[in-house]
Amino acid sequence: MNKLTSYTIREIQKSYADKILTPTSFVDLSLQRAKQTKELNAYVTITEDVAETHSIESEKRFYIYKKPKLLDGVTVGIKDNFCTSNIATTCASEMLKNFVPTYDATVYSRLRRAGACLIGKCNLDEFAMGSGTVDSVFGPTRNPWSYDKDKWRIAGGSSGGSAAAVCSGSCLAAIGSDTGGSTRNPAALCGVVGLKPSYGLVSRYGLIPLVNSMDVPGILARTVDDATMVLNAIAGPDKNDSTTIKRVYNPITLRDIDLSSVRIGIPKEYYCKGMSREVLETWSYVTDLLENEKAIVKSVSLPHTNISIAVYYILNQCEVASNMARYDGVQYGLRASATSSTEELYATTRHRGFNNVVRSRILAGNYFLLTKNYVKYFIKTLKLRRLIVQDFQKVFHNVDGVDLLLTPTTLTDAPLFEDFSQRTNRDQCALQDYCTQPANMAGIPAISIPIKLSENRMPLSLQLMGPPLSEDLLMNVARKIESLVQFPVLKAVT
Ligand code: GLN
Repeated sequence: MNKLTSYTIREIQKSYADKILTPTSFVDLSLQRAKQTKELNAYVTITEDVAETHSIESEKRFYIYKKPKLLDGVTVGIKDNFCTSNIATTCASEMLKNFVPTYDATVYSRLRRAGACLIGKCNLDEFAMGSGTVDSVFGPTRNPWSYDKDKWRIAGGSSGGSAAAVCSGSCLAAIGSDTGGSTRNPAALCGVVGLKPSYGLVSRYGLIPLVNSMDVPGILARTVDDATMVLNAIAGPDKNDSTTIKRVYNPITLRDIDLSSVRIGIPKEYYCKGMSREVLETWSYVTDLLENEKAIVKSVSLPHTNISIAVYYILNQCEVASNMARYDGVQYGLRASATSSTEELYATTRHRGFNNVVRSRILAGNYFLLTKNYVKYFIKTLKLRRLIVQDFQKVFHNVDGVDLLLTPTTLTDAPLFEDFSQRTNRDQCALQDYCTQPANMAGIPAISIPIKLSENRMPLSLQLMGPPLSEDLLMNVARKIESLVQFPVLKAVT
C-alpha cells in the first residue's frame, strides 16, 4: 500500500500496460486511500462515482481500443475553487457551500480530455486567501508528514488540500491555484513539486478569481516529470480566457541537461529575517551541488524585493474588494433570509457568507480604492509593481544577467498548527509569502522542488524562477536538481 505515496505517472501507466494494475483497480485503491486518510482533511468532496466512471472509460481505451491518452488512468485532485459541472465548488466558504457549477474549468476539461480520473475536490483557505489551509469553512488540512492528533503541522496554503492529497497517496497529481504562492508554499511544506506557470500560459476559465492580474492555475505532483506531463496536457491558448497567451504551446520534453552553460543567480535580498538556519543551509547545499555540476552560479540583486510583500497585499486587497462584490445574495451563492431591504440582504448575506479574513480584505481594499486614496495607494503600488517587474527584467536580460534564480520557497519547514495560529492570517501571509509573491507580481514561472528533511523530519524545499515562458529550461534544471538531491518518499500514512 505504501507504494501509493511513491508511484509516478509513468510507473502507473507501465503497470497498466503490463496489467499489474488496471485503471479501475488503481482508482479503487486511490479512493480507499482518500477515505483512510480522511483525518488529513485534504478533500472537501471525494468524487467516488465520477472517479469510477472515468476509470472505466480509461480502461476501455487501454484494453479494448488500445489507444490510451496522455493521462489515461491518472488520478487527480482539483482545488475546490475550479468549477466542475455537477460537482459542488465551494471555495471552502459558507458563501458557495451549495454552489454547483454548470460548466467545467478549462484545466479540468483538458485533464479529462487527456484521460485523467477525478478523485475529488481539494480543501483550501477560504477563497484561496491564506498560506496555511487553516482558514477553510471545512476545517484545516493537516500535513501528512506529521499529523499526530494533538500536535500536528500545517500543510501550507492555500492549496494545502491538493498538496496533502498528492503527498499522502490518494492522487498522483493535483491542480492548485497560485496568486502569491499558494501552489508553491504547500508543495514546499508537504514535500511535493509545485509549479506556478507563466501568467497566461494556462487558462483560468472556470477558476474563481482572487486577484486577476496575478492568478494562475498551479500543478502539484510527486516529480518534475509528472508536473511536466500535466503541464503539457493543460497549457496553451483558450478562447474562453482572453488573457491566455495566443501562441501554440510546444510540449516540453525533459532531457539530461548540461548545466555548464546555465547561469544561476542567487538574489541577495532573499536572505531575509526569519529564515531558519536549516533553510539557509539547504540553499547553500544546492548552490554547491549546482557549482559541482559546472553551472555558473553568481550573486545578483533584486533591489525592490523588500517592498514587494506590502505592494502585493495592497493590490491583492484592491482586486479582492472588486472581485467579491459579485457575492451579494442576489445572483448566486448564499442568500440570507428574513431581510427587510436590499441593503440589509446584501449586508447579512456578506456577513454570514464570508469569514473574517475575506471581510477584512474587502474592507481594506475598498479603503485603498476610495476616491481620496486611489492615487495615494492603488496608483502608487501599481508603479512600485513596475519596479519589481523591472528588477526581474534586468537580472534576466542584461548582458551579465542569469538564466534562472534559486531561492528558498518558505522561510521554515511546516510550522506546528498551535504556533501558526498564534498569528493572524495577515501576519502569517506577510511572512510566508516573502519568497513567492514576487513571481506573481512579475508573471514569471517558478517551481518549488523538495530537497531534504529538516531535523523535525519535515520537508525543506527550494524555488527556481525564470523569465516569462522559460518553462522548458526551468523544468529541465528542476529535474536535474531533483535527481541530485534524491528527496525521500513519505513511507507511512496511518
Ligand atoms: N497567501 C497569499 C494570499 O493569501 C497567497 C494566495 C494565493 O496564492 N492564492 O493572498
